[in-house]
Amino acid sequence: MFRRVSVTAMLEVTDLHKSFRNVQAVNGLSLHVQAGEIVGLLGPNGAGKTTTLRCICGILQPDAGQIVVGGYDLARQERPAKQLMAFIPEAPNPYELLTVREHIQFVAMCYGTMDTFHERIEELLHRFDLKEKEHALVATLSKGMKQKLAVACAFVHNARLFLCDEPLIGIDPKGQHELKSELQRLRDEGCAILVSTHQLDTAERLCDRVIIMQSGRKLAEGTLAELQAQAQMAGSTLEQVFLRLTEEAKDAGDRVSESASPDQ
Ligand code: ATP
Repeated sequence: MFRRVSVTAMLEVTDLHKSFRNVQAVNGLSLHVQAGEIVGLLGPNGAGKTTTLRCICGILQPDAGQIVVGGYDLARQERPAKQLMAFIPEAPNPYELLTVREHIQFVAMCYGTMDTFHERIEELLHRFDLKEKEHALVATLSKGMKQKLAVACAFVHNARLFLCDEPLIGIDPKGQHELKSELQRLRDEGCAILVSTHQLDTAERLCDRVIIMQSGRKLAEGTLAELQAQAQMAGSTLEQVFLRLTEEAKDAGDRVSESASPDQ
């Protein structure tokens, strides 16, 4: 049996580093997500959000750092850690020669949850408007339908940690509503959810707390009230606070690089 090393948070990331050749995509990031919490992962393009999520779900191998899921160390106890997770990628790449139903069934088989598959599949197909396409090949789905399929696949096993990378992109308003309601329902049931998004109004309504990344590092973290206090912007929206904090950090970074460059 695997030994659980910690149960303080559903997800605990410590000092994560990941680089691609000369690009330091994630640089010493630490974060945690408790059970019963939706945490937003925000940041400008290239901040390192997707790289962070891909390291957490095991698609990318970190250069350094520790990732603990539900008390299981991902590096040493990969299987039980992954059993607890579901990932909704930004650009899903499903198996095109399976039908929608076969694809969801395939995922259920991979996670060993075929016992609940038959009761779950009908609900998921209806909820995400995939019933009509149940027997269609995945290759024939529209982009938004493929995204809905990725969402349905994430809900087919009993994950406790949901990692969502821009999950609402490409999904129609009803699908977005269903997904947001489902994430809130899962949070209320005690699941932990980490969701990256550029939709700051959605993040403000959906998330209990946010983490703002910039240049691979954590720039700020907290509830809206805590971030407003940090930015000295009481009563402002998350968007206003985000823009202020990221702009200030960029200006400070630019000043450091200017002072470090040799005189012309
Ligand atoms: P966005 O909001 O645009 O999706 P992001 O915050 O998700 O951005 P990442 O996709 O994690 O950012 O990228 C972080 C940095 O790592 C960027 O500079 C990016 O160009 C680089 N990067 C990401 N993946 C690779 C890769 N496979 N090879 C080389 N560089 C990469």
